[in-house]
Amino acid sequence: MWYFSDEEKQISELCRDFAQNELAPSAEKHDTDETFNLEAFKKMGELGVLGITADPEYGGAGMGCLAATLVMEEFGKACASSTLSYLAHSILCVNNIQANASNEQKSKYLPKLITGEHIGCMGMSEPEYGSDALGIQTKAVDKGDHYLMNGSKMWITNAQYSDIAYVYARTGEKKKDISTFILEKSENHFSTGKPIHKMGMRASPTGELIFENVKVSKEHLVGNEGDSTYHMMKNLEIERITIAGISLGIAQACLDQSVKYANERSQFGKTIGEYQMIQKMLAEMATETAMMRNFLYNTAYRYDQGDKGPEVAAQVKLALPKMATKIALDAIQLHGGYGYSREFPVERMMRDNKLNEIGAGTNEVMILIIAKNLLKTAQ
Ligand SMILES: Cc1cc2nc3c(=O)[nH]c(=O)nc-3n(C[C@H](O)[C@H](O)[C@H](O)COP(=O)(O)OP(=O)(O)OC[C@H]3O[C@@H](n4cnc5c(N)ncnc54)[C@H](O)[C@@H]3O)c2cc1C
Repeated sequence: MWYFSDEEKQISELCRDFAQNELAPSAEKHDTDETFNLEAFKKMGELGVLGITADPEYGGAGMGCLAATLVMEEFGKACASSTLSYLAHSILCVNNIQANASNEQKSKYLPKLITGEHIGCMGMSEPEYGSDALGIQTKAVDKGDHYLMNGSKMWITNAQYSDIAYVYARTGEKKKDISTFILEKSENHFSTGKPIHKMGMRASPTGELIFENVKVSKEHLVGNEGDSTYHMMKNLEIERITIAGISLGIAQACLDQSVKYANERSQFGKTIGEYQMIQKMLAEMATETAMMRNFLYNTAYRYDQGDKGPEVAAQVKLALPKMATKIALDAIQLHGGYGYSREFPVERMMRDNKLNEIGAGTNEVMILIIAKNLLKTAQ
C-alpha cells in the first residue's frame, strides 16, 4: 500500500477518468494513422496537468515528481504515445523552463504552455550525437547583440507541433561549453524536417529541428552562457523517472488485458486461465508489475524529498522499461495469434514500450551511469 497526499490521489483519479474517456477510445486509430491526438492534448490543458510541476503563479499545479509519475501511469495505460508527447511538453519543456529559466522567461512562456495554447518540445539529441549528449554540435555563436545558430536536432518529440523549443547548443570550444535557449516558432528560430515514421509511439509526432543562420536575441539564453551541462544532467533525472511511469502504465494495461483474456478464451474445453502455464505467466506479470510500482513510487517520492542523483533515476529507468517489455511480450504470448494481430492492444503496447528502453538514455547508458557511481562510491 502506498500513501499519497489528497492532491496526488485526486490527480491520479482525474487522470484515470480522462485517459479512459479521451485517450483510450482513439488510441488504436491514432497508432494506425500515425496521427497526434491534438484534441486530447488541448483538453489536458483544461484538466490542469500540462504544468504539473510548474508554480501556481504561472498557472501550474505546483506538484512534484511523484504526481507527474502518477499522471504518466494513468495516461500510459490508455495511450502510451499520447503520454510521450505529454511528457515532452510537461517535463522536457515546461519543467525545464520552471527549473532553470529566469522569472521573466517563466512569465513569458509558461502560462500559454500550461493552458495548452502553446506546445513545447526539448532538443538535445542530434543526428550524430545521441548517447554522447555532451558532444552536440549545434552552435550558437555570440555576435554581440544576438547569437547566430546553426545545426539540427534529431528525434524531437512534438517537433512539428511545437511553438516553443527548449534547446541545447554549443557556445564554446570546450566539451562543457553548452548553453540553453528557449526558441520560438513565431520568431522563425527553427524549421522542422519531415516526420519520422516509427515502429511504436506512432501517435507521438517525432521530427527534426533545423537551425540555419538563425538570429537569436540574447533574452532567449537560459541562465549563464556555458552553464547548461549541469542543468542538462539534472533535467534528465526527472525525465527518466517519469518516462518509467509510462512503462508502469503499459505493464498494468498488459496485465489487465491478459487476465481478462485468460478468463474469456477457451481451448480444449476450458478457459486458458485454468491452465497452470498461463497462471504462471499471469502470476509473474502481476508480481513484476507490483515490483515496478513500488520501485517507481519510492524513487519518485525520494526525488521529491531531495534524494536525487543520476544513479537513482538511472536504476528505475533501466529496470522498468525492460520489465514492461517482458510483460508486454508475455501478454502477446498469452493472447496467441490474436496477441500478434491488431485485434488486441497488447502488440501496440509492446511496440510503444520498446522506445522507453531507448529514449531519455538507452539501457546501456543507464548501466554505465549506475556502474560508474558504484565503482566511484567504493573507492
Ligand atoms: C521516439 C523517440 C523520441 C525521442 N524524443 C527525443 C526528444 O524529445 N528530445 C531529444 O533530445 N531526444 C529525443 N530522442 C532521442 C533519444 O534520446 C536518443 O535516441 C537516445 O539517447 C539514443 O541515442 P541514439 O539514438 O543516437 O543512439 P546511439 O547513441 O547512437 O546508440 C546506439 C547504440 O549504441 C549504444 N551505446 C552508445 N554509447 C555506448 C557506450 N558508451 N557503451 C555501450 N553502448 C553504447 C546505445 O546504447 C545503443 O544501443 C528520442 C528518440 C526516439 C526514438
